[in-house]
Amino acid sequence: RAKAAGRATYAFFSAEMQTQAMAKFRLKYDLARAIENNEFVLHYQPKVRIFDNVVVGAEALVRWYHPERGAISPAEFIPQAEESGQIVQIDRWVLCAVVTQLGEWCRQGFDVKPIALNMSLPMFQRPQFVEELQYLLQSYQVPAALVELEITERVAMGDLEYTVSTLRALKALGVSIAIDDFGTGYSSMSYLFDFPIDTLKIDRAFVTDIDTDAKKQGIVNAIISLSNTMELTTVAEGIESEAEKQYLLMFGCDFYQGFHFSKPVPAALFAERYFRASNVVKLANGDN
Ligand code: C2E
Ligand code: MG
Ligand code: MG
Ligand code: MG
Repeated sequence: RAKAAGRATYAFFSAEMQTQAMAKFRLKYDLARAIENNEFVLHYQPKVRIFDNVVVGAEALVRWYHPERGAISPAEFIPQAEESGQIVQIDRWVLCAVVTQLGEWCRQGFDVKPIALNMSLPMFQRPQFVEELQYLLQSYQVPAALVELEITERVAMGDLEYTVSTLRALKALGVSIAIDDFGTGYSSMSYLFDFPIDTLKIDRAFVTDIDTDAKKQGIVNAIISLSNTMELTTVAEGIESEAEKQYLLMFGCDFYQGFHFSKPVPAALFAERYFRASNVVKLANGDN
């Protein structure tokens, strides 16, 4: 009996594993086509100063519009693309798209604000990547100060010497650096002494329901104190309510992103909503 049950269990897992393997294969194949056919689009989520709700920049987030399946979340395809190595092609596309977009906005006369983008481990580890970025910025005449790179602790902790030298090169270029999903990755914090970073982004896990969760209040308060001590700016991710926002404000957080202010939006909408105003002001001043 036990033997039969064992065999049945084995058969069950093997069928499941086969389905998973096929789904993976399918996704990899679809991703290859998506890269080829340029099925990606960037959306921009405003980054907002917490005490007066002024939009100071945005984070670029990739979206994949699959011809049959419709929009597929990066949470679904980024991990798979990291595993297959296809993430490098996606992230290179994203980098190029962001710099191109920044150049366009600059030439259109918008009062452009910095855009952050997410770096995967294989992208960050490309030895040519800083030079590629520099070349792109030069080609599109985009000031490096308009670009911010987000790396997770996992990405940063790959090869410490390489990370320090790469971050220094990026800083020398004028690009700023944020640690994304802070608090969910590596447990050592000594890297905060060694890495030339500018910003900590507090992961949404700590922010969600902070208004009703005393433990989260403690953790977030501690993270913000730490961030202030290290003279970093702090961004809270995933604020969905006024009540959550009030706690972050009270603890001294500088900026936030979240559905409470805005979901990520297409480029044209972002520029129209958040750049136009300063442009109009400029034109009005010019008239005087
Ligand atoms: P992330 O970099 O931590 O980005 C924040 C994620 O939280 C985004 O999800 C954003 O839409 C979502 N978010 C923002 N505010 C709220 C909120 O108030 N409530 C909730 N529930 N969610 C909120 P998204 O766009 O699905 O991206 C998920 C992750 O995929 C990103 O996490 C990032 O790790 C990765 N990703 C996105 N775009 C890229 C990219 O171009 N390259 C790479 N390598 N990874 C990317
Ligand atoms: Mg991010
Ligand atoms: Mg994050
Ligand atoms: Mg996250």
